[in-house]
Parts: sequence; structure tokens; C-alpha cells
Amino acid sequence: MDVERLLSWYRANKRAMPWRDNPDPYAVWVSEIMLQQTRIETVYGYFARFMARFPTFRALAAAPMQDVLKAWEGLGYYTRARNLKRAAESIRSLPGTLEGWRALPGVGPYTAAAIASVCLGVAAPVVDGNVSRVLARLRRFAGDTRSAPARERLAAWLQPFIDCAEQPGEFNQAMMELGETVCLPRSPACSRCPFAGTCLAHAAGEEEKFPERKAKKTIPERHSLAFRHSDGEGRFLFAQRPPDGLLGGLWELPNQEAKRKTTTKAARPVFHSRTGLVPSAVRYAGTVTHVFSHFKLQFHVYDVEASGEPKNGCVFALPETLPLATATRKALRL
Ligand code: SF4
Repeated sequence: MDVERLLSWYRANKRAMPWRDNPDPYAVWVSEIMLQQTRIETVYGYFARFMARFPTFRALAAAPMQDVLKAWEGLGYYTRARNLKRAAESIRSLPGTLEGWRALPGVGPYTAAAIASVCLGVAAPVVDGNVSRVLARLRRFAGDTRSAPARERLAAWLQPFIDCAEQPGEFNQAMMELGETVCLPRSPACSRCPFAGTCLAHAAGEEEKFPERKAKKTIPERHSLAFRHSDGEGRFLFAQRPPDGLLGGLWELPNQEAKRKTTTKAARPVFHSRTGLVPSAVRYAGTVTHVFSHFKLQFHVYDVEASGEPKNGCVFALPETLPLATATRKALRL
């Protein structure tokens, strides 16, 4: 691998990013956590708002969890936000070593290497999905290069190259940038690639055969009966999810898992047992679909008129005041 060629390409082509030119460790940390599972174009707006609201890790540690989840609303994978806040609460100062970063909740080997290389100059190679794709093509590495052991092997392969770089953070960012902007999953732009002369997959005309992929599993479908009940003044009835696990701490329309969509008659007792309210009219409003990484949710939404006092755990609130699960936001727009 020609490191100098890669770095010259990067210096001429890198995109401006708010956390890139003046790498404050807290900003890089927040950006790296947001960039896990999320496209960079989406992250820009969230990052700016998050940093304005929580400009330091101390501000993040002191903020209520609900505020943090609200700032994260719509980004998905909310465990990231909860871990970020818990990690901020657990430290007195930002870590000064790779191992220190690695020990924080939610900071895996990839994120720790990214932060430590960019902010501390540690020569730790980053192997994310983009980098593993570049390497799989460059050397025509066979097999699934995305598993954790495969990524460790790729990191070991990269180590002597990052050791040659004067600025390890710049090397890592160059590799990631190449994967994000040139060595794309489909139709890589090899004519613009600094490795075009040495890439084995390109020489063989087999760019898209690498990385080798496992057959995609089909994901199961789940159903839930969800209830939209308003107090007539714009506030809806919401219930909070348990603090941990899927969508932990977010708010949603009261709902109940079911085998399938049901009749409005059968939905009435479900609404009553879920909320404690007595329904006087129930109308099916529609179904929204939301795809999680491991299942597809069919959220069957019913509009309900009802009376009585809601059970503990259910509250009336304006939707904009709570961090809401995405399926609920879609259901409110129905
Ligand atoms: S030459 Fe093409 S396939 Fe090879 S690393 Fe560059 S962009 Fe990727």
C-alpha cells in the first residue's frame, strides 16, 4: 500500500467536517458514536444541535437522560445515546490513552482507535465497514471481512502502514474517506482512486465481488396494536419504555404485541388493559411499518375515544416535548 499516495489524495479531496479540522476529543467522540450505523449527511444536523445543547462532556453528564434522548430522536440505535451519557457521567476527565477510551461504555475497538489516533496520535488502525471493503478489494481477501476476528486480522495487516504515517489520525481518516467517497459498495470510482494501479480486485475487474457476502437472512415480522388517544388539546397519551433494551427510555403510543391486526371490537379490551381508560369508540386508522435491524414491525394504529384516569406509566403530553420512538412518530402522522 502506497501510504504517501493515499495521504496526498486525502489532502486534496477530504470533505470539510465540523469535528475534523480542530479535533476536540469530546466532539470526535460524539461524532464517532453518531456515525455508527448512520450516514454522514444525516449526522451533520444532529451533531450541530447536540453540541450546541451539550457543549462539553460535563454538560452531557449533568443533563437529564430525557433531554439526551430527545436530541437523539430519529437517529435510531438509542443505546448509543444512553451509553454516551453514562460514559460522560462515569469520568472526571476525558481519557488520555487508547485503553482509557476502550474502557468506556459504548466505545468499541473501532471507535477507540478512531478517537485515540485523531486526538492523541496513537497508531491504532481503524477498521470499519468502509475500510474493510477497501482492503478486501485491494488484496482480494476471501471470506466475510466484517466479523470481529476478520477485522482484527485486517487491523494487524494495516499496522505497519499506519506506523509509517506521521499522523496516524490522518491515515485512518484517509482510509475511511476513500471507502465513503470512492471505493463505494456499488460501482466504485476506481478512476479516482489512489490505489488503482495496485488494487488486485480492480486489476481482475472483480471490484464488486469483494468483500464476499453471506446470503442475507430474511427478518421476521412482528405486529403490535397501538392506540392513539388525544385529550382534544393536542396532547396524546404516551407510555414510556423500560430504561434499557430496545428503544429504552423512549416514549410511544400505548401498544401491545399481537399475532396480527385485529378488529376494533377485539382492540377495545386491549386498550383498556394497557391504559386503564374505558373506550367508547375505536376506529382503525392505518398501519405503519418500521424496520429494525432484526425484525420488521407492523404497527396497527387505532384511534380511541375514552374516559377515565390513565394507569400509572401513561401520561398525556404534547408530542414535541418527549423523545418518541420512530414508529410512534410515523403513527402520529397517519
Ligand atoms: S481501485 Fe477501485 S476497487 Fe480498488 S480500492 Fe480503489 S476504488 Fe476500491
